[in-house]
Amino acid sequence: MTTVVADLARLGANAAPEGGTFIDGSYRPALSGEVFTRISPVDGTPLTAVAACTTEDVDLAVAVARRAFEDGRWSLAAPRERKAVMLRFAALIREQRSELAMIMTADSGKPISAALGEVDDAAGVLEFYAEAIDKLAGEVMPTPQSELALVTREPLGVVGAVVPWNFPLGMPIWKIAPALATGNSVIVKPAEQAPLVVCALARLASEAGLPDGVLNVVTGFGETAGAALGLHMDVDKISFTGSTEVGKMFLGYSARSNMKVVALECGGKSANVVLADAPDLDRAAAEAAQGAYFNQGEVCSAGTRLVVEAPIAEEFTARVIEAAQEWQPGDPFDPATRMGALIDAGHLDRVTGYIRTGQEEGARVVAGGERALVETGGSYLQPTVLAGVNNEMRVAREEIFGPVLSVLAVDDAVEAVRVANDSIYGLAAAVWTRDVSRAHQIARRLRAGTVWVNCYNRGDVNVPFGGFKQSGFGRDKSLHAIEQYTQLKTSWFNLDD
Ligand code: NAD
Repeated sequence: MTTVVADLARLGANAAPEGGTFIDGSYRPALSGEVFTRISPVDGTPLTAVAACTTEDVDLAVAVARRAFEDGRWSLAAPRERKAVMLRFAALIREQRSELAMIMTADSGKPISAALGEVDDAAGVLEFYAEAIDKLAGEVMPTPQSELALVTREPLGVVGAVVPWNFPLGMPIWKIAPALATGNSVIVKPAEQAPLVVCALARLASEAGLPDGVLNVVTGFGETAGAALGLHMDVDKISFTGSTEVGKMFLGYSARSNMKVVALECGGKSANVVLADAPDLDRAAAEAAQGAYFNQGEVCSAGTRLVVEAPIAEEFTARVIEAAQEWQPGDPFDPATRMGALIDAGHLDRVTGYIRTGQEEGARVVAGGERALVETGGSYLQPTVLAGVNNEMRVAREEIFGPVLSVLAVDDAVEAVRVANDSIYGLAAAVWTRDVSRAHQIARRLRAGTVWVNCYNRGDVNVPFGGFKQSGFGRDKSLHAIEQYTQLKTSWFNLDD
């Protein structure tokens, strides 16, 4: 390992001064003074103390965010002024690229190459919404001459963004950027497993000129800080990304409080369908491995069910096993490393537990299956392939959220689509075939928010991302996200004297 404990600790402390909570333009400790310690999954060393906020901190953040919204310091600023601040914010992120990426790697265990890419993408997302916001117009509806009807989009007010740990910068920025562009005030509740990069981000927003109180960060646990935000009577919207189980809780919180709008980006168990006429089996195998192991498999849209047409199942599995070797875990701070550490030791136990469950259910471990780099003290797992899986097994039905790929052989394309859709989830799916008509037909039948054809995990900020079924509703990214953070207002004018 090239990492040095003292450097990791320094990075953590810089990212989370006073425990990391950022309210009304400055860092402060939790009102209770309580903290918890972030342990780096890279090598098991403590990074820094993080504020464990509770209801009283959330109350303060909401009051501050509400005041900022009502006095119009940001919500009433001209779109071009908001654009200028957001472009400066993006520029500061680009300037701090290395530092932000290193904080993310130390905190989450993801490889530095992926962390750098996530920082670049975050700046790009801010730029996209900054550039969009002064180009979107309202509507003037056809009316009699004596009347005028305007339809405008207005910000919602106070938005709570409750986010997971797997993309500690990417997930919050998908929400922060369109919410700020449209004039809302925002409170981010990062996951307790990887809060540090969002804490560091808050300072950059202030430096860019974002008025105090418009972007706030409340660190802490889901059951306390997250629930307090979900149940708050003065939060207008919760934009949640995380597990389906917790997503459902937010619907309940809304019902029990003020009927706040809830958008949910939840779990997945995506099928990657490889038909016998796939155009290039080596590339399909390489992308199947990438789809399963990128970000340690801690990806909501990971292609964890590899559904392969029987005639090529054996040969294709062999190619995937070979491709998996490219994803052996390594030092997350080495630029050549493709797979880093899982988020923490508890999650590693959960993932290895699923591998055992698969074996008990009759699946075979044909690659990996064991912990790796144990001597480092970090949470590493070999890229794992389970063969002989059928769609009734728990490993095919439940989200494992680690580098575990299940191979399911099917008779033909019809069965492939049936198996792919036989899931409570519907986040993403892929199909590999050289037959254009068949590709279109299957893409239409796959019940998923994103369908890839002859590729996996591709995207851009300009396309929407989100799920069907229990993968959630609402969409992040693209101009459609503007709809998520605004509401329509009709203004009807009588023009008679
Ligand atoms: P999680 O649901 O455990 O936690 C997500 C957030 O909710 C965290 O901030 C957490 O503190 C908070 N939370 C947890 N329990 C809560 C409670 N009782 N009340 C209020 N808030 C609570 O998810 P995770 O383990 O952080 O992330 C992994 C999950 O996220 C996976 O299911 C993954 O598929 C999903 N995910 C989905 C997308 C998507 O776009 N659909 C993207 C990334 C991750």
